[in-house]
Amino acid sequence: MKKGKLYIVPTPIGNLKDITYRAVEVLNEVDYIAAEDTRTSKILLKHYNISTQMISYHKYNEKKRSSELINFLNAGKDIAVISDAGTPGISDPSQIIIKEAILHGIQVVPLPGATAFVPALIGSGLNTDNFMFVGFLPDKLKSKNELFLKIKSINSSLIFYESPHRIFSTLKLLKEIFGDRKVSIARELSKIYETFYRGNLSELIQTEIVEKGEFVIVLEGYKTTKMSDKEIIEKLSSLLEKGEKQSKAVKIISKTYDLPKNRVYELSLKLKES
Ligand code: SAM
Repeated sequence: MKKGKLYIVPTPIGNLKDITYRAVEVLNEVDYIAAEDTRTSKILLKHYNISTQMISYHKYNEKKRSSELINFLNAGKDIAVISDAGTPGISDPSQIIIKEAILHGIQVVPLPGATAFVPALIGSGLNTDNFMFVGFLPDKLKSKNELFLKIKSINSSLIFYESPHRIFSTLKLLKEIFGDRKVSIARELSKIYETFYRGNLSELIQTEIVEKGEFVIVLEGYKTTKMSDKEIIEKLSSLLEKGEKQSKAVKIISKTYDLPKNRVYELSLKLKES
């Protein structure tokens, strides 16, 4: 028997018009729509006169529901997965069913469409050649700290999803760990109160940001300080001459000039040898 197809369909992130003709067509034609929250999606389906039957598919029943949906697909039914907003699989369920479908030889058809991080990045004015989508930040400060330290030296724009009541504490922590980099905050994209806040972290910490709605933070990537080996060695030797220990001197120079610690350490070894 011919297997069905699994369509992954992006839906608007605010403005109901941000849906493609193809997405509406697919949602009309499939046998079932697997929706994250059927009540939320009802509004969208009603707006576009789509009467396809919905099945709930969310992070709490994702595993169990995936195998039921695979049975439907194996039986020849076409299914579209949608989330509450944006692209399923981007900080939303659908990874499990996609992996399962691939394992079962079912065709996966991901449609291009709305997602929050792309307009947030494009509107940020920051580097769009290289970027890293980090997604939701951990709630706990300790885990957030660890994550930031891990990605501090990545030479790409960094994109975070963050909840409104944590925006300020996150900006402060970002400044503490990443230094005073450029940042852009996109609030309520595609909605009436869409706002971009752009500047350095220190400026945005002083800015009155409305802590309501949905937010994407885009942070400037790591920039290698253009300091030659000779300059670093000079800085190191002047600290060592003042009686600073080698390890402390390495720490001070790498922190002050935002240089990779291993580079400064290797230069300190060279200096010692000479
Ligand atoms: N699947 C979605 C996507 O493709 O972007 C993301 C869903 S995730 C559960 C929700 C988060 O996305 C929000 O907390 C916020 O960080 C971001 N987001 C969603 N809609 C947004 C909007 N209109 N403006 C700004 N951020 C938005």
